[in-house]
Amino acid sequence: MKGKYLFIFCFLSLFLNLHAQKPPLLKLRFEENYSPTWEETIGMYRQLDRHYKEALLIEAGGTDSGLPLHTFIISKSREFDVSRLKRQGKTVLLINNGIHPGEPEGIDASLQFAADLLRNKDGMAEFLQNTVIVIIPVYNTGGALNRSAWNRSGQTTPYETGFRGNSANLDLNRDFTKCDSEEARSFTALFQKWDPDVFLDTHTTNGSDHQHSITLIPPQPDLFPAPMEKVITGKMLPELFSAMKKGDYELIPYVDWFYEDARSGIRGGQESPRYSSGYAARFHCYGMMTENLIYKPFPDRVKSTCDFIRALVKFTSENNSLILRSRQEGREKTKQMIRYPIAFSIDTTRFLMIPFGGYERDPAQISRVTGVKRPGYDHNRPFRDTIRWYNRYQPSEYVDVPEYYVVSQAWKKVTDLLTLNGIEYRRLVRDTVMEVTVDYLEEVSGATRPYNGHYYHEKFTTRTERQKISYFAGDWLIPVRQNKMLYLLEMLEPKAKDSFFRWNFFDSVLDQREYFSPYGFEENALRTLEELPALKAELEARRKADPEFAGNHTAQMAFIYNHSPWLEKSWKRYPVGRIFR
Ligand SMILES: [Zn+2]
Repeated sequence: MKGKYLFIFCFLSLFLNLHAQKPPLLKLRFEENYSPTWEETIGMYRQLDRHYKEALLIEAGGTDSGLPLHTFIISKSREFDVSRLKRQGKTVLLINNGIHPGEPEGIDASLQFAADLLRNKDGMAEFLQNTVIVIIPVYNTGGALNRSAWNRSGQTTPYETGFRGNSANLDLNRDFTKCDSEEARSFTALFQKWDPDVFLDTHTTNGSDHQHSITLIPPQPDLFPAPMEKVITGKMLPELFSAMKKGDYELIPYVDWFYEDARSGIRGGQESPRYSSGYAARFHCYGMMTENLIYKPFPDRVKSTCDFIRALVKFTSENNSLILRSRQEGREKTKQMIRYPIAFSIDTTRFLMIPFGGYERDPAQISRVTGVKRPGYDHNRPFRDTIRWYNRYQPSEYVDVPEYYVVSQAWKKVTDLLTLNGIEYRRLVRDTVMEVTVDYLEEVSGATRPYNGHYYHEKFTTRTERQKISYFAGDWLIPVRQNKMLYLLEMLEPKAKDSFFRWNFFDSVLDQREYFSPYGFEENALRTLEELPALKAELEARRKADPEFAGNHTAQMAFIYNHSPWLEKSWKRYPVGRIFR
């Protein structure tokens, strides 16, 4: 070899050697349709923690199963203190896995991704320049322990998975506001501590059948103030979809048909805060969910999720300052809101055209099980098309934004959750009578069956009054225009979809605590009529107009009771007062 070439060769070998990839540390078995157990998963993260100074596995609270909830943090600077990391201007990306342990792609994919990133596979470590990654290895520990080959009847791989419910049989992806589970309380604390800029929750869907291994429920643009909405629609989604298109697994939005099949268009969802990504949105966090298609081979589901995590981390790191700035501007914009939309409907006039690989529908496929026709898809007739994606919503109902809420300290379950969520408040220093605006909850129709441990209030009407109410030292005065204002409105406006009222936190106000006896009310009723001549006149007019009423003692006593101060004012009165400017 001539001198010059020898020099180049030596230089290249040295260069390649320096950048040589270390062999993988972990042995994942998703190619064999095996997803690790909870113990194996935590064991592998422990291995990474021991091997790399840039990684830390820690316990972050408890779960209903009695096992700890873990977080695995990857930080290039080896700094793991959140306030110092925030001061350094790092973005935080939080990834949650195994909320539904029967949907385990993210458990495998996060392990694979973490291991690849830490060994700098393909120069991936550059993604850590501006971003810290926090991974929840398995959120639903109890569901993960309840592992069996008989969970998930629509799924053929992996051969064994965990169970959807947690140890208390709760669906944890409905629990982010009511926080019945220890998991949700631990999550709330860690979410509030890390205040992630971007959040991903990994899932699997069986909603339809098509050619794509991975779909995305993106941050719903209309839930975000303008500076963030612009980032989602103008940058984040175009770049994530385009990054995935360049790889092996083309990403499409989650497939929910608009009419009868995908060719007629699909619609985006809008998550209320009971769901992880909906909860994240109320803290100005770019939250989203991947939904792998259950009918695809497990290895493809894992690899496509791994690719997506990689694209998301890259985007988060490269757009660090845009993400931080848009969140800050978004929060300021939110604080200027005069009215807040509490209900939305899909906008059928706005859509994007997106590429889609489907299978022709076969409405009369013969089932190999029953020999009878069933609706299905013909995998021998794949098609490519461009379809409509409807992903814009319009507000359909608003509430006026008050300056303060006033909550009596008696509602401790509520104030505890507000505290856990980092809401700012003041305690009254002395007993005070305040004039506030209150709602009366009327025509509340109770659910006939429990749902996730509650009788959710689907339908009710409200009537508003201004009243002077006595509050006591220690009661809560909550300024509304604060950083966590969206969460506050969602929880304290009774008509918001996942408000504390909807989930039964205030149900005791729906009972009437006192009443009258037709015999015992005699003396006081007599005195009341003497003291309230207008009521007496009303009663007499009613007697004249309605002979049946005139002959009914109990009906008349009820009339006096219900139209006088005897009737308790607090009955059906929503116990959160509003103060407007
Ligand atoms: Zn799920």
